[in-house]
Amino acid sequence: MSNKGKLIVLSGFSGAGKGTVVKGLVEKYGYSLSVSATTRSPRPGEVDGREYYFKTVDDFKNLIDYNGFIEWAQYVDNYYGTPRKFVEDEINAGRDVILEIEVQGAMNVKSQYPDAILIFITTKDKETLRSRLEGRGSEEAAVIEKRMKRAAEEAKSIDLYEYIVINDDINTCIDMVNSVILSRKCAKENN
Ligand code: 5GP
Repeated sequence: MSNKGKLIVLSGFSGAGKGTVVKGLVEKYGYSLSVSATTRSPRPGEVDGREYYFKTVDDFKNLIDYNGFIEWAQYVDNYYGTPRKFVEDEINAGRDVILEIEVQGAMNVKSQYPDAILIFITTKDKETLRSRLEGRGSEEAAVIEKRMKRAAEEAKSIDLYEYIVINDDINTCIDMVNSVILSRKCAKENN
């Protein structure tokens, strides 16, 4: 049995409540969380180094050149990437790490780490997604439209995920994701 930690990749439509699910998994179950780098501007209340490492495009491209990311992708006009060092240190120390990343990044991680656990978080329907995006109040209408369009594209990739969890009630969703992870860790092929 490997003593290494597992990579847990959580994806989902923007507005599906992934961020809250991730927060719950970290607080309730003690998972380690990878903080990504991005070139997008901070939203109100976001803190550098907590939600993201906010970078200029030049700094981000430098990090790509220095192999500083295990994966990176472009999403709605901005770059996002998973810093390599933190993730490698954590899994080598036996800790399970959550990556909250989009579809392209998830596939990229799976090709490098075949035992990564891929979970997709979604809402029960499209209307719930739109109303959550609008309710967030931090994005302009044009950005919401772009994110809805991107969601429609991402829906085509859901089949690539190993598990799909609906976020209807947040606490149930957090517990379900934790159960998925635990069951996967107990699966025979992992022992
Ligand atoms: P947001 O701007 O709403 O925080 O994130 C936009 C999208 O980028 C989300 O789908 C989020 O999961 C994804 N994302 C965040 N960090 C990373 C990352 O490091 N790599 C990739 N590939 N996607 C990311």
